[in-house]
Amino acid sequence: MSGTKLTINAETQLYGILGNPVNHSLSPLIHNTLFEKYKINAAYMAFQVETNCLGLAFEAMRAMGMRGANITIPFKEAAVNFIDEIPEDADRCVGAINTVVNRKGRLHGYNTDVTGFLAALKEELGFNPEAKKILVLGAGGAARSVVFALARAHADEIIIHNRTVKRAEGLSDYVSEYFPKTEIDVIFDLDSAGKKKPDLVVNATSFGMRENEASPFNLESLTHQASVYDLIYTPVETPFLKQAKKLGYPHANGLGMLAAQAALSFELWTGKKEGVRETMLAALKQCIPS
Ligand code: NDP
Repeated sequence: MSGTKLTINAETQLYGILGNPVNHSLSPLIHNTLFEKYKINAAYMAFQVETNCLGLAFEAMRAMGMRGANITIPFKEAAVNFIDEIPEDADRCVGAINTVVNRKGRLHGYNTDVTGFLAALKEELGFNPEAKKILVLGAGGAARSVVFALARAHADEIIIHNRTVKRAEGLSDYVSEYFPKTEIDVIFDLDSAGKKKPDLVVNATSFGMRENEASPFNLESLTHQASVYDLIYTPVETPFLKQAKKLGYPHANGLGMLAAQAALSFELWTGKKEGVRETMLAALKQCIPS
């Protein structure tokens, strides 16, 4: 937890992230940096929760008066079953939460990934999805937030490709129910995706995180320039982003989204907003070797 000087005492408020695995999470670093900056007597820890113990973890959160939590892989969808309320309609329809706020014993759930993704697209790429055509690679938890975000921002067409086709079809059907004005299709043959002329290609798979993994999509198959966003942030430059850079396409990694969604969680817990995202991004860039 470099850069922070937390003093733990009997009044320290507890926050944390529940996930599995969670040992490489950067959330403790960024939230503790901000608690220190604002001199809030709070500490943020990472909790590795066994997959069949999520209910117990939520009971513990209530029993011990934890003030808030983030939820990560693989619990974002299941966590919905253990909270009292999802106050925002927009979050409720996503069916997955990444933030919990404990308000006098009632656990309120939020999804800041959706807004965080849109904020990152705007800040990092100057990209507005309205009336645009977007290719999304992946259909897991992160892709779900990405597709919801793009449809909510009035994208004209979203094309989903996923290794497991059924999962892509499920996602397409689910989001289409809420956003009938956005055309959401599943594509099987990735080689033909380039001819669809997407304005933006998003990697929302985890393919590219490991050393020997290639790019999930050959950007050279595009018939015109597109913006490129990779949700992955370790490594900072995946083979997918390396190719975007080589081709001179506007591109960004997932650090901006990570900071944006974390800043929104922090605001829900503390009410602090000004400069939070920027401070988190700076802390992240300092700790991740490029
Ligand atoms: P999930 O486990 O829910 O989904 C993983 C996705 O990647 C699925 O679509 C899966 O396909 C696909 N995939 C995995 N391995 C391969 C492979 N070898 N070849 C092709 N496709 C593959 O994870 P999440 O959706 O939660 O996370 C996905 C990525 O997004 C992770 O790298 C995560 O770190 C990142 N992320 C970044 C965030 C940020 O703030 N920047 C926020 C959230 C996530 P299949 O369905 O066929 O298994």
